Amino acid sequence: MVDAKCKIGIMGGTFDPVHYGHLVTAEAALGEFQLDQVLFVPSGNPPHKDPIGVTETKHRYLMTVLATVTNPKFEVSRVDIDREGVTYTIETLRLLKARYGPGTELYFITGADAILEIMSWKDPKNLLQMAEFIAATRPGFSLGRQNDMIKRWFAQQEKSLNILQVPAMAISSTDIRKRVKHGKSIRYLVPETVDHYIYKNNLYGECSGTHNRP
Ligand code: NAP
Repeated sequence: MVDAKCKIGIMGGTFDPVHYGHLVTAEAALGEFQLDQVLFVPSGNPPHKDPIGVTETKHRYLMTVLATVTNPKFEVSRVDIDREGVTYTIETLRLLKARYGPGTELYFITGADAILEIMSWKDPKNLLQMAEFIAATRPGFSLGRQNDMIKRWFAQQEKSLNILQVPAMAISSTDIRKRVKHGKSIRYLVPETVDHYIYKNNLYGECSGTHNRP
């Protein structure tokens, strides 16, 4: 059990693959919200996503471990990976609250695109009572009209949506997968260990064993 007044960031995401945008986001959240630790939670079987096309959980988990291992304030959790069935965030937060103790404040951090859909997640009103929410965007990225609607909805629940602008979020997992597929370099977009892991395991190529390191 961690200290009773801990503030824990929960980085929810598919991490397919994890990249420097995620790591910079977690580091920025640590500073901005005075968090004690950030727990990376690779998704298991999220409700909105077709599992076909998402890389096996073991690879996404191991890449996240490799990427975070040198930061003493970063950890990786298997809470979503090891759960059977659809993994709703409300359950993830309940399990983590139980693990860390009721005095712990949770800060759920994820991409703004995902947070904009939060009203359609399971049990959204209770979800807002379980954690603070931090939406990561890149500077200048407009959340559009949905932004006002979502902020109004947070205000109705007497909560506020925290927006964290992170220049490094211009890096995207989709782009990295495309770059590997087309033989382009991903050096400096992901930690070196993750870059090596991707090529060693033939991830993101047209078919296994066909892509060479550029
Ligand atoms: P996603 O569609 O893979 O990602 C949406 C956007 O957010 C992408 O631009 C992505 O960039 C970015 N992103 C994802 N995780 C991020 C993070 N931790 N920090 C900064 N940017 C991030 O969304 P997802 O990963 O599936 O879902 C995000 C989280 O919301 C997961 O924990 C998921 O379980 C949860 N969720 C819960 C429900 C529910 O309970 N009903 C429904 C939907 C989502 P990259 O592609 O570059 O990562």
